[in-house]
Amino acid sequence: MSAKVWLVGAGPGDPELLTLKAVRALREADVVMIDDLVNDAVLEHCPAARVISVGKRGGCRSTPQAFIHRLMLRYARHGKCVVRLKGGDPCIFGRGGEEAQWLREHGVEVELVNGITAGLAGATQCAIPLTLRGVARGVTLVTAHTQDDSQVNWPALAQSGTTLVVYMGVAKLSEIREQLLAGGMAADMPVAMIENASLPHQRECRSQLSAMEHDAEAFQLKSPAILVIGRVAAHAQQNLEEQSQRGSEPARESRYQ
Ligand code: SAH
Repeated sequence: MSAKVWLVGAGPGDPELLTLKAVRALREADVVMIDDLVNDAVLEHCPAARVISVGKRGGCRSTPQAFIHRLMLRYARHGKCVVRLKGGDPCIFGRGGEEAQWLREHGVEVELVNGITAGLAGATQCAIPLTLRGVARGVTLVTAHTQDDSQVNWPALAQSGTTLVVYMGVAKLSEIREQLLAGGMAADMPVAMIENASLPHQRECRSQLSAMEHDAEAFQLKSPAILVIGRVAAHAQQNLEEQSQRGSEPARESRYQ
């Protein structure tokens, strides 16, 4: 029997946003290795599996990547069905690419299963269309945090005309604002900051580029959160305001600054 590992996206948190394929992999799993941002509720699909937490949140004690690699390899070589379960999509800021490459180099078959990435889920949960005819003709997913501290080219992104969806940005708001302003982005560019997207305790804070740091502080924005920066970030707000002027209730509860 050839060794195999499933690299599976658990989605942003709401267990109903899991794919059917992810559920199938979980049902077949003997061993499930999970990250911090995975909602434990999805484990109802693998009641008999051995669950191992290998999370690593920024600044906390973390499981060394080499250890995770070796553990996956050991179980896979023993013929176990191994599911490596990651928050969101395994290949969006999730090291899925690295892990898949390492496993393949060690003779392990890898099957990747998409998950709904937090940025796409967060926007949709807040009724923000990331692309919109005549408003945004594209979307850029970007991380504000790089392991080697290499610089994101924010001024170029400011010029791109695409909606920016920023991961791991909570601690970098000041830098992001400065760099985008330096790149010529309008100070009143709408921003939505979405914490715990798709979970019952989801919160959203609406702001503008120049005020986003101040507003996030007043709101006590915490990780995990994504930022949506672009004209579309005001779109849902307009819809909700129009709706409430007409006297009907907004579709879902939101918190605006
Ligand atoms: N692979 C994941 C991303 C992991 S990086 C995915 O595709 O979603 C971790 C970052 O993702 C967090 O710092 C935060 O910016 C974002 N994130 C993950 N889950 C989130 C959630 N439920 N709500 C808001 N942001 C989230």
